[in-house]
Amino acid sequence: MKKRKWLIGILLGLALLYVLAVVIVPKTLDKQKNTTKQLPPYQVSEKAQSLYNSLDFIADLHCDALLWSRDLTIKNSIGHVDFPRMEEANMALQAFTIVTKSPVGQNFSKNTAETFDNITLLNFVQGRPLSNWFSLFERAAYQSRRLHKFATDYNDEFIVVKNTDDLNRLIALRNQNKRVTGGFLGLEGAHCLEGKIENLDKLYKEGVRMVGPTHFFDNELGGSAHGVSKGGLSDFGRDVIQRMDELGMFVDLAHAAPALIDDVLAETKNPVLVSHTGVRGTLDNSRNLSDAHIQKIATNGGLIGVAFFKGAVTAPLIKGIVDAMKYIKSIAGVECIALGSDYDGTIAAPFDVTGLPLLVEELLNQGFQESEIKMIMGENVKRFMLENLK
Ligand SMILES: [Zn+2]
Repeated sequence: MKKRKWLIGILLGLALLYVLAVVIVPKTLDKQKNTTKQLPPYQVSEKAQSLYNSLDFIADLHCDALLWSRDLTIKNSIGHVDFPRMEEANMALQAFTIVTKSPVGQNFSKNTAETFDNITLLNFVQGRPLSNWFSLFERAAYQSRRLHKFATDYNDEFIVVKNTDDLNRLIALRNQNKRVTGGFLGLEGAHCLEGKIENLDKLYKEGVRMVGPTHFFDNELGGSAHGVSKGGLSDFGRDVIQRMDELGMFVDLAHAAPALIDDVLAETKNPVLVSHTGVRGTLDNSRNLSDAHIQKIATNGGLIGVAFFKGAVTAPLIKGIVDAMKYIKSIAGVECIALGSDYDGTIAAPFDVTGLPLLVEELLNQGFQESEIKMIMGENVKRFMLENLK
C-alpha cells in the first residue's frame, strides 16, 4: 500500500514537472534562439519610409515560425514573425517552412542523420502530440495544420496560398484592405517523407507547395551541403522531383549539396527557388551559392532569397545582405533576387519583420533604383508565383 502511494506521488511529481516544462521551456528557447540585434520600433529616412509604404507586394521566402509554440495570431515580443507584425510591415506573402529534424551540434560542414535530433526534444517539451515525437511525417503534417488553424482564427485576414486562385484572391483583397496578408507552406528537408512518395501527395493535400530536398544531413533524396556524401539525387530523389513537377510544387535548393543542385536543375522542368542563402562571391562557404549556380538558376527563371544571418552574409548584417544582392545583380540581374530572411530559424536577425524599411534604406544607400527595390522586396516573388503556381 505504502509503495503504491510512493509510486503515485512520483508519477504526479513527474507529470507536474512536465507541465511546468511545457509552460516555461519552449518560450525560453524561442526567446534565446531567435534574437534580434536591433529592437523595434525602427527609424529610417523619410525617403526610405515613403518608398517602403508605396510597396505593393512585399514577400519573404523563408521563416520557421511554425516550429515554435508562439501563437502567430497575436503580436509577440519574442521571435521575428507573427501575423500582426506582418500586417504592420505591410507584408503580402511569407513562406512558412517546416523543420522536422535538426542534429545536435549542427554545423555547416559535416553532419550525419544518426546524430541525436534536437526537434524530438523540442516537440517533447512543447507538449506536441505523441505522434510528433516519433514521426517526422507527422511533424510536417502537424505544422501544416497549425498554419491553417491560425489562418482560420485570424478571421480570414490571412490567406494560405495553395494555387493561383488563392494568390489572385490575396492580391484582390489587399487592393481593398492592406491588412490582409498571406503565406505558403514549404518543407525544409524531405526526410519527413520517410522514404515514401505517397507522403509527398499527402503533404501536398495539407497545403505544402515548396520542398527543399535536404536540410543539414544527407537523406533518402540525396546529399546535403552540410552532409557527408555531398552527393546528387538518389533514384528516390528523382521520383520525388518528377512527382513535384506533376503536382506543381517548387523545389527549394537551400542546403543542397552542389551535386544535388546540378541534378535537380537537370531533372526538373520548372524554375527553382533557393529560399534562404548567401553567395560565395561575398562569403565563401559550403551553404552559399557559387557563381555558376546563381547564373543557372537565374537563367531558368528561378529566385534566390538572400538570408539575413551571419554565415549566409557578412557582418554588419544589413550591409551584408545588400552586398550579396549587389553581387547577384552584377552576375545575373535583379529579376532573380528575393528576400529569404530565415526568420525564426534559430538566427540572430538584424531586425524583426517590422524592420524591413531598414533594408530599403540600405538598398537606396547602395545605389539600387526604386524599380529594382520593388522587385527585390516582393514583385519578383509575385511574378514567379503567378507564372508557376498551378
Ligand atoms: Zn535553413
